[in-house]
Amino acid sequence: MKTARPAHLTDTQLIDALNRCARDERGATASLVAHLAEMDVRELHLGLGFSSLYAYCLQVLRLSESATCKRIDVARAARRHPAILDRLADGSLSLTTARLIAPHLTENNHEELIAAAAGLGTRAVEQLVARRFPRPDVPTLIRKLPVPAAQVRLLAEAPQDEVPAPEALTAPNASTGGRGPVTTPLSTAPAASTTPSSRPAHPTFTALSADRYQVRFTASASTCRKLRLARDLLRHAVPSGDLSEIVDRALTALIDDIARKKCAAATKVSRHERSLAADSRRVPAEIRREVWKRDEGMCAFVGRGGRRCRSRAFLEFHHVMPYAVGGGAGVTNIQLRCRAHNAYEAKLFYGPRRLSGPDSTGRAAGRA
Ligand SMILES: [Zn+2]
Repeated sequence: MKTARPAHLTDTQLIDALNRCARDERGATASLVAHLAEMDVRELHLGLGFSSLYAYCLQVLRLSESATCKRIDVARAARRHPAILDRLADGSLSLTTARLIAPHLTENNHEELIAAAAGLGTRAVEQLVARRFPRPDVPTLIRKLPVPAAQVRLLAEAPQDEVPAPEALTAPNASTGGRGPVTTPLSTAPAASTTPSSRPAHPTFTALSADRYQVRFTASASTCRKLRLARDLLRHAVPSGDLSEIVDRALTALIDDIARKKCAAATKVSRHERSLAADSRRVPAEIRREVWKRDEGMCAFVGRGGRRCRSRAFLEFHHVMPYAVGGGAGVTNIQLRCRAHNAYEAKLFYGPRRLSGPDSTGRAAGRA
């Protein structure tokens, strides 16, 4: 769609048009949030082959990660407190301020709290929330600056039982003239987390070049000890002690191990498992191995319109024809599903009530 350039407008017309655009955008945002809330309730994204509403927003609605998180959080709050939608539309709440108050809204306070936040800017709403819902002080945090992987060093000579400080894993930083890592006190506490499991909690990967990434995370003392030990044991193969190389080898071994367990890549199938296979809902090792390979270790749910989910997280083995109605554990009846789609199909088949008890209606089986 082509966007008309307003170069031909008079000044007055331009101001009027700009105000109208802002008003339209607020209305569209409120409407988008309302529709997202309904979509979330109906779980339509699951039927279309997406494992989460988050994935749908990113891939179909083309929203950015941060825009998606904000809108989904506000949509879920708006389901409980629809007045938020009117405030978004009239501009007295922005998505940011609505999201700030959302975790604190209750049946008792929502009218008053929404009214108190209305018309305020982000900083003012942060202060309002901090005043009314105080949180304990947070400790000063130390933030590591990006350093080339080759420069990262473990605190090599520290005693094994010593807890390494975070800066012990960083190299002297060039920007400080090699005098040590930079410490950055953070003045505000992190926002209350409303992050569902389907979206990344924190951005931990930063692209540095075509094939290099900065990966940042906080590790326990135990993890640091394991890293030190692995580095020492791998001295012959990785003389430089390059942490990225050691972590890469560890992850390769871990993924192999998980794949072996998930797809039951054991060389022998136990006699016990063989005896279970005939009349059990348990999927035998050899079937799991074949299914995992066929489905390429990804959710095989295909939504309306033909989109396959392909999620690799929370995978489960799914009976296409449920075990309860005679579906066997053969390779043609078993497929990989992410947890969301396994639950979705169970709900379609049994109906929501059957998930917590017997379904007396019998309609679900017909739908399936
Ligand atoms: Zn899925």
